[in-house]
Amino acid sequence: MTRDIRAEDDLPDSAAALDFYKKYDPKEIIGRGVSSVVRRCLNKHTGVAYAVKIIDITPERLNTQQLEEIQTSTVKEIDILKKVSGHPNVIALIDCYQSNTFIFLIFDLMKRGELFDYLTEKVTLSEKESRNIMRALLEVVDFLHKKNIVHRDLKPENILLDDEMNIKLSDFGFSCQLEPGEHLRELCGTPGYLAPELLQCSMDNFHIGYGMEVDIWACGVIMYTLLAGSPPFWHRKQMVMLRMIMEGQYSFTSAEWEDTSDCVKDLIARMLVVEPKLRCTAGQALAHPFFQQYFVEEVRHFSPYRKFKVIMLTVLASVRMYYHYRRVKPLTPDIVLRDPYAIRPLRKLIDATAFRIYGHWVKKGVQQNRAALFENTPRAVLAALTAQSEGLDDLF
Ligand code: ADP
Ligand code: MG
Repeated sequence: MTRDIRAEDDLPDSAAALDFYKKYDPKEIIGRGVSSVVRRCLNKHTGVAYAVKIIDITPERLNTQQLEEIQTSTVKEIDILKKVSGHPNVIALIDCYQSNTFIFLIFDLMKRGELFDYLTEKVTLSEKESRNIMRALLEVVDFLHKKNIVHRDLKPENILLDDEMNIKLSDFGFSCQLEPGEHLRELCGTPGYLAPELLQCSMDNFHIGYGMEVDIWACGVIMYTLLAGSPPFWHRKQMVMLRMIMEGQYSFTSAEWEDTSDCVKDLIARMLVVEPKLRCTAGQALAHPFFQQYFVEEVRHFSPYRKFKVIMLTVLASVRMYYHYRRVKPLTPDIVLRDPYAIRPLRKLIDATAFRIYGHWVKKGVQQNRAALFENTPRAVLAALTAQSEGLDDLF
């Protein structure tokens, strides 16, 4: 027996699981969610590769309430996906099918995977790369908010990358279209990205509720994380972390922020405002000076005098660099052994290598020093590893 899953009347053609297998050939798993598995699949007729999100609704595995919840939320997810599809930075839903045991949602395949994986591999992103990603993210958030749609689960795991490294927002499982003046109360999302008002609301029955501002808070957390390689709010005890969020307790003190401009920090600070009414909107964030820089490639036309000035300045700078270079103390093995993390190129190497060894995000906060993992004293290594594993236990 098959049941139709319908958001509104004109859903992509929905049919039995058999129809799915007639048209598509499922391949390896490329992602997992709470109640879904995502596989690469091939269209048998065209040979084109897609991603299929398979949602398990096996009745033996779930009670009636869980079953209803999953079905309702999937209907909602499809409904929202239909409303937002066509935006260049939203994942395109191609097709969907339902049997009485599974729901299949077919999407365009994002071969480069999640922004999360890209970031963990690179550790931190440059201002320029962060600017491109944040501009696209805020544009799509602005587009959603203009339709009164709140995403509620913005995080690097739900931002996918296409072949040209353009971002595509995915996972609309918690998304919701608000009526004018409507506030939400449900506690949902991912701990590190939850906005303070969302947490307060779950603790206070008289709280007015929250709205679309929660997405801007998450954008602030994402932007901070892209640039620093670690999230703004993190503590191995989740309760402490939630308190830090509610008090808006974060800082720009780690080494990664030393070279970052005040303009970047200003934009992050405008998004990470505890009071939702004072937090900037997506449109205001896009109008921030951070996005005005390097937007138009400047074409320079130099007069002969300016050409001469530029040449002179270049020569002077080269001479200065040469003398500076001669004065620099050579890097001896002794200096390297004493404090490798203080030397910038080595710090980058340590960070990147830490990822390769551990296969996950090693640094979780300012206090944690990735270099400790490479120190020779067994106690330091042990302490660092314990902190990592405790941190991961708390997270999962
Ligand atoms: P859930 O709602 O269960 O979190 P998601 O829609 O976020 O499910 O999908 C889980 C994971 O599957 C994603 O984080 C991503 O790694 C992978 N994934 C989802 N859709 C695609 C896609 N279109 N292309 C490539 N990978 C995808
Ligand atoms: Mg997800």
